[in-house]
Amino acid sequence: MVVTTERDDATWYECEECGLLFDLEHDAEEHEQHCDSEGPSYIQ
Ligand SMILES: [Zn+2]
Repeated sequence: MVVTTERDDATWYECEECGLLFDLEHDAEEHEQHCDSEGPSYIQ
């Protein structure tokens, strides 16, 4: 899921799965569709 977050007087779109930040909602949504991370601790 993509969530919005305010940072540095700007709105960012964050991938809730892995925490990546995007400045475009479209980019975040597109990333999320391909994101296969199951959480912040994805290192195995
Ligand atoms: Zn992600």
